[in-house]
Amino acid sequence: MDNTSSQVRVRFAPSPTGYPHVGNIRTALFNWLFARHANGVFILRIEDTDQARKVEGAVEIIMDSLKWLGMVCDEGPIFQSQRLEMYRKYADQLVREGNAYCCFCSSERLESMRKDQIARKLPPGYDRRCRELTDEQIKAAKASGIVPVVRFKSPLNGQTTVTDLIRGEVVFDNSTLDDFVLMKSDGFPTYHLANIIDDHFMNISHVMRAEEWLSSTPRHLLLYRAFGWQPPQFAHLPMILGPDKSKLSKRHGATAINEYRDKGYLPEAMINFLTLLGWSLDDKTEIMGSEQIIKNFSIERVSKTAAVFNMDKLEWMNGVYIRNLAPEEFAARSLPFVERDLPTAIQRPIDISYLKQIAPLVQERAKTLGEVPQLIDFFFADKLVYDTALLQGKLEKSQAIAVLRNSLSALESLQDWKTEPMESAVRPLTEEVGLKAGPFFGVLRVAVTGRTASPPLFQTMEVLGRERCMGRLNEALNRLL
Ligand code: GLU
Repeated sequence: MDNTSSQVRVRFAPSPTGYPHVGNIRTALFNWLFARHANGVFILRIEDTDQARKVEGAVEIIMDSLKWLGMVCDEGPIFQSQRLEMYRKYADQLVREGNAYCCFCSSERLESMRKDQIARKLPPGYDRRCRELTDEQIKAAKASGIVPVVRFKSPLNGQTTVTDLIRGEVVFDNSTLDDFVLMKSDGFPTYHLANIIDDHFMNISHVMRAEEWLSSTPRHLLLYRAFGWQPPQFAHLPMILGPDKSKLSKRHGATAINEYRDKGYLPEAMINFLTLLGWSLDDKTEIMGSEQIIKNFSIERVSKTAAVFNMDKLEWMNGVYIRNLAPEEFAARSLPFVERDLPTAIQRPIDISYLKQIAPLVQERAKTLGEVPQLIDFFFADKLVYDTALLQGKLEKSQAIAVLRNSLSALESLQDWKTEPMESAVRPLTEEVGLKAGPFFGVLRVAVTGRTASPPLFQTMEVLGRERCMGRLNEALNRLL
């Protein structure tokens, strides 16, 4: 592989401390789009150095989510927990060269220091007590069995400027950066150390990550400088807010990404939607396939201002993608949801050829594949469950009975159980019974579907078939007699 510096190499570097949510996946997506656009390399790196916060199964869900969305990684997953020796080696180098030091302070001391700082309204941070320990003091502390952490010797003054591809130059006072930990006493590196060592050795050309990491970047730049390494370019992606402009949370619908899959959102709609959380083609185009996005993707058009996550928009967009599916495909993609969610009393496996006839009737209405089972369950039920009063609606009982009787006799003699002949046979009956089409068909609709809203009546009846329909019409009539 060509690892020259001109090649775009980006990474998605999640910590497996939870299931990936909209924000995480948006970061993955922008890296992936950027890599695909530039014919570059997209790397998955699992930053699993925080043993205490590790969540069982998170890595699998991260990988599943990427796969579901079609974001294939070219390298990885690479696990930081398998590279501990390397981090140790470079931490030792920093200590040897005087850029880092061992800190023996107890957690109790650090805790009381922190409380004291908070009480005195000072910014929390390590007071650098171990920064100037003599060799003898270090030896003695080690001999007493204390396992130190390694801290970076941050410059006490001056400034560090982050040049961000989205935000421009952002200047940080070094005095605000404390002597942050590089290696913990459990032998694991911190995020800062592992992150930059890996970015360096993986030849990462661009670090694209959420804005919340911007404040870590001056620390990273200082580390690069201490190692004498060339830093990658940085691009911090805008925050994602809820429609009420507060930080995005579960209450805005921002659940784990796999829940969207389980609810029947289409991956291609999800990609389109997430892309628009911070990037735009031209300020007006909403519906874009991934090829079009990849072709046009650029960091220049990533916005500086926060993006707003709007669940209604996602639903609308998913509906657009559903309507654009070929009917056969819509049926095939609905099948797992139908299998999963139709009442258990309905026999499995579901007959796919029957489903293919049914599905087009609800394709216009479904906003998610997860809605399909409840839109079509009456096609499968052996016996409809509904309130008999629905049959009558606002009609007299005798009128509803007349609707059913007349329809039954007209349909009985019908040769061809098809939409048009059925409609031509039944529609004239409205006059016979002296009802408008609406209330007349309303009775039939409830009788054959058990509900007052359904796909077009005669198409529904055609798909249901003669036997089921006649049975249901007779049953409805019996209910009223
Ligand atoms: N492990 C960090 C995270 O979970 C990665 C941040 C970065 O990309 O540097 O977001």
